[in-house]
Amino acid sequence: MKTALLTVGTEILFGQVVNTNAAYLSENLQNLGYDVMYHYTVGDNPGRLKELLDFAYHDCDLIITTGGLGPTQDDLTKEIISEYFGEKLVEYPDQLEILKNHFKNSKYKWTENNRKQAWFPENNCRILPNPHGTAPGFMISKNGKHIAALPGPPREMKEMFENQLKPVLEEHRDSVIYYRIIRTINLGESRMETILLPLIDGQTDPTIATYAKEGECSLRVTSKRPTYEEAKAACEEMIGKVNELIGDFIYSYDDEDLLDVVGKTLIEKNITISCAESCTGGGFAKALTDVPGISAVFERGLVTYNWKAKQDELGVSLETLEKYTAESEEVAYEMVTGLKEKTGSDLCIAITGVAGPEDIDPERPAGLAYIGITYNGETRVSKVWHRNNGRFWNRNFFVLRMLNEVYQSIK
Ligand code: ATP
Repeated sequence: MKTALLTVGTEILFGQVVNTNAAYLSENLQNLGYDVMYHYTVGDNPGRLKELLDFAYHDCDLIITTGGLGPTQDDLTKEIISEYFGEKLVEYPDQLEILKNHFKNSKYKWTENNRKQAWFPENNCRILPNPHGTAPGFMISKNGKHIAALPGPPREMKEMFENQLKPVLEEHRDSVIYYRIIRTINLGESRMETILLPLIDGQTDPTIATYAKEGECSLRVTSKRPTYEEAKAACEEMIGKVNELIGDFIYSYDDEDLLDVVGKTLIEKNITISCAESCTGGGFAKALTDVPGISAVFERGLVTYNWKAKQDELGVSLETLEKYTAESEEVAYEMVTGLKEKTGSDLCIAITGVAGPEDIDPERPAGLAYIGITYNGETRVSKVWHRNNGRFWNRNFFVLRMLNEVYQSIK
């Protein structure tokens, strides 16, 4: 069903309030199978609100508004909508009673301008109660068109959407959306798209959309069908084809973070782990400890930041440091073998590199690091490099690459 969102509030136009209502409603409506075609925002201005209603009404079957339902003079959404749909506003005695009781039980004094919050369209109207505020919402269904008016405050709006409006929309919808988000690593977006082109080209349903995120790419496979079962089956079939083409790069079919997948796998397979970090300053250890239950396998995290720490804690030789510098493959190798000797953990990982913001020299640019890993009797060092994006970004990138190294070893 074609849908428009119309958010009302001058403060949104001024940039004082971020339009989180539109984001929330869009996501939830798409998930319900409604096609959100437009986001309109208008100030507290009756003329322009009417104009936008006109646009939305002609192109869409469902309009959802938020804001402008309160008791004050500039809260005009209800009046304009009713007039637009040719409905007279009348006082609902039961709503007036609820409202007055609300005031009786609160510290606020009743003022007569609140009365207008008990006024609703006389016909074709469903009232949407508001347990968290004084302004109820409402819905008008007329001539095959539907409009729902929700309050502006996000907490009230969400509660009303979830408990009052969503069940109604579930009944009215003509199709159901099913989607899966597939996460990949080691595959750039353009390469991913090129490989998947035979599936993407001429797609109608399911659709495939690729997204590049920091250091990784994901893929959304979406199907919209009359029933949930059909949509799910269509997606699963498409995911099978995607898997044939890029299966080696996929680490999650359920939109999980690489960190969570790594943590879960370490715990499930009972693989103990220790790390030694230089340029990430403990970022990898911090990330691992974000995973609940990781204490079962995470044994030790060392931050060996200068030469002395690398020598004392990990037995890196002075000769290697002097000959190759700290930011080198050779030092990463000695760091990880030293860590293995010290801890005996099943998997040991070490990193050394240049966090930036400046390059040390042309051979050691910011964004370059070496990651040593030892697991199952094998030790390897990988060189990772990314264009310098600043110290903070580089360090996060290095942590992601460390997670990737672990994932590739234990998957
Ligand atoms: P009430 O007058 O009872 O508070 P209302 O329905 O008249 O409710 P508004 O006056 O339009 O709502 O908005 C109240 C507050 O809700 C705004 O000041 C703002 O903080 C928040 N709000 C309104 N619209 C949005 C929006 N689209 N996204 C995020 N927050 C919003």
